[in-house]
Amino acid sequence: MDDKKVKAEVCPKCGAPLGEVVETKSGKKLQRCSTGSWDPETKQNVGCDFVKWLAVEPTALEEKCPKCGAPLLMVTTRMGKKMKKCSTATWDPKTKTAGGCDYVEWLKGTTEALDEDCPKCGSKLVMFTTVSGKKLKKCSTNQWDPQQKMAVGCDFVEWQN
Ligand SMILES: [Zn+2]
Ligand SMILES: [Zn+2]
Ligand SMILES: [Zn+2]
Repeated sequence: MDDKKVKAEVCPKCGAPLGEVVETKSGKKLQRCSTGSWDPETKQNVGCDFVKWLAVEPTALEEKCPKCGAPLLMVTTRMGKKMKKCSTATWDPKTKTAGGCDYVEWLKGTTEALDEDCPKCGSKLVMFTTVSGKKLKKCSTNQWDPQQKMAVGCDFVEWQN
């Protein structure tokens, strides 16, 4: 059948086989060279530093496209950003044109109201969860002003582990 998957891929730098596919916290997948490893103490790569980033397979969603009614797909970009797009969308690499339905929805983080007061100004805090799953507490008065292109309000932020 598909014997490409059976054959182990080799590192283009040193010729050693690639290691197992690992997934990062943000959902990205990568394969390191089997002769290389990450040393968390020195924060450096030991051995061969080849890393192959894998495209994350889109997953089908229960949701329907608001434009055409076809099922939506959840796509994770190489940068770890997530978006929903229509499953009928196609990309022709030869003509560099997109076909099918063009519905795209970028995922933003979620904000939850907290019953906690801001230590700086006394307003309520909110818990913000980024698309990649990081959490931070910030002041509810902190808003993004699209006209001034800057954040306004109280600047209290506390990253959660
Ligand atoms: Zn290598
Ligand atoms: Zn659509
Ligand atoms: Zn505040």
